[in-house]
Amino acid sequence: MMTSNTESPEIRTTSNFLRDIIEEDVRTKKFGDATVQTRFPPEPNGYLHIGHAKAICLDFGLADEFGGKTNLRFDDTNPEKEEQEYVDSIQNDVRWLGFDWERLCYASDYFGQLYEWALQLIRAGKAYVDDLTADEIRQYRGTLTEPGRDSPYRDRAIEENLDLFTRMKRGEFPDGSRVLRAKIDMASPNVNMRDPVMYRILHASHHRTGDDWCIYPMYDYAHGQSDSIEHVTHSMCTLEFADHQPLYRWYIEQLAIFPSQQIEFDRLNLTYTLMSKRKLLQLVQENRVKGWDDPRMPTLSGLRRRGFTPEAIRAFVTSVGASRTNGVVDFEMLEHFQRNDLNRRAARAMAVLRPLKVVIDNYPEGRKEFVDVANNPEDPSAGTRQVLFSRELYIEQDDFREVPPPKYYRLSPGKEVRLRNAYFVTAQSIVKAPDGSLIEVHCTYDPASRGGNSPDGRKVKSTIHWVSTAHAVSAEIRLYDKLFSKPDPYDVEESGDVLDNLNPNSLEILTGAKLEPSLADAKAGDRFQFERVGYFCVDPDSSPGKLIFNRTLPLKDSWAKLEKKTGA
Ligand code: ATP
Ligand code: MG
Repeated sequence: MMTSNTESPEIRTTSNFLRDIIEEDVRTKKFGDATVQTRFPPEPNGYLHIGHAKAICLDFGLADEFGGKTNLRFDDTNPEKEEQEYVDSIQNDVRWLGFDWERLCYASDYFGQLYEWALQLIRAGKAYVDDLTADEIRQYRGTLTEPGRDSPYRDRAIEENLDLFTRMKRGEFPDGSRVLRAKIDMASPNVNMRDPVMYRILHASHHRTGDDWCIYPMYDYAHGQSDSIEHVTHSMCTLEFADHQPLYRWYIEQLAIFPSQQIEFDRLNLTYTLMSKRKLLQLVQENRVKGWDDPRMPTLSGLRRRGFTPEAIRAFVTSVGASRTNGVVDFEMLEHFQRNDLNRRAARAMAVLRPLKVVIDNYPEGRKEFVDVANNPEDPSAGTRQVLFSRELYIEQDDFREVPPPKYYRLSPGKEVRLRNAYFVTAQSIVKAPDGSLIEVHCTYDPASRGGNSPDGRKVKSTIHWVSTAHAVSAEIRLYDKLFSKPDPYDVEESGDVLDNLNPNSLEILTGAKLEPSLADAKAGDRFQFERVGYFCVDPDSSPGKLIFNRTLPLKDSWAKLEKKTGA
């Protein structure tokens, strides 16, 4: 089931209770000779997020483990909220994550069959047309502590129900005027069993069936039957559907169709972000972010654009596992998996985000030389490259202090540091503008330290990166931070809105970055580690001559932490 180029052994190794259930069902032949069949059933009303990645890895990963198959099924029963754009993006994201489906299905493929089954339930006296309004139905439903009351239309004759339901389908009645309900038990302690609505009237165009239908099945009526039609053995979904399971079973039992089985697991929640498609859509619609694939979004398309990899996301959700209680996972854990993966794979490069000019006074004017640099110290097979060194360089503004605070070991007047892979340099003097701002730092270098090696055993406490001013390529750099400023974005004042907790500083744009010349040819999606700075990925907004990089993640910066603590 995994596409061959992204074989993922990690999914097989972690244990979880879902695997135990499937193992037992296979052993006891609960589904006879049927093979394990699962489905991933997104509603095409938004883009997939990292929570969906967990469901995808469970649905596809577990089926694959047992030699089974997985369908991608669009749960498209709400025509007003669903769009082809979402259908396309979902397929793209599932493939990107490394999975391929057995069959591409749509709940709307089954509208005809579902309708026939509804007629069957009416004929069996197990469904009826109700003329109560939505509000009245709510009032009659009772509460968690009080039983519901029967609708005055509950005992309609079967013939009348058949007549009204076929006329509902023919479009004779306006939206909301009638519904079809299952006749179960208005006193059930489970509110979902109190004569749930099966069909509603909705004169709306559907992204696939157009105007063929003006009645649409409810989720609960469509989902289990769609599973059954596809011979899904294990229908895994999140815990909020646990209360719906008796209803899932009731429909299947009344219709005596393939006995698909629902199993619930915990939703993935992450700190500093949220997983509700409705809220994510609001962020997009209100232009709080630049679209579903904004690199700050927890969507798969956003994470992809930011530079996250499918391998890291799969390893992360596999490590999180599945359980029967909801919890919250630290966003830092996802970052940890991503750093591990990029550390192994990302090519290194030197890039200066906030440049400060350095002139090496005793380096001959007009001379340039190549220094040999490893492309990835973690991966010798990545080879080496040549980087141009010359008399004038850029270093990070942060790597120089005119008056160094305690424990600051980088460049400052009179101090010697190593320019990575190049030479030892000592700061001699500075040039300032009339307003007092720093223009450039003048240094001397030790020609005997070529390659960054100490000529006489003399130690320097710091190695800093650099690029040659004459050869550097310019770039825009987009630095991202947490989308929300609180670990729990839903932690709001009573009258407040979740979006009040958006982090106002989640995006910082640097326009003057200087990169080593080898990056001039980088393509959208290419990922790098900018040495000492972080992981970066070329944004698709880039065009020839105008490079834009997204920061995927900073490297862990112990200095920044210390700086905060000491107030230095
Ligand atoms: P939302 O409430 O954000 O719209 P949803 O659950 O309605 O989410 P669906 O498109 O219906 O989204 O989800 C498809 C599948 O993904 C379902 O089986 C659902 O249970 C699962 N899923 C959705 N969100 C998560 C999550 N945060 N963690 C794990 N699985 C999830
Ligand atoms: Mg849903």
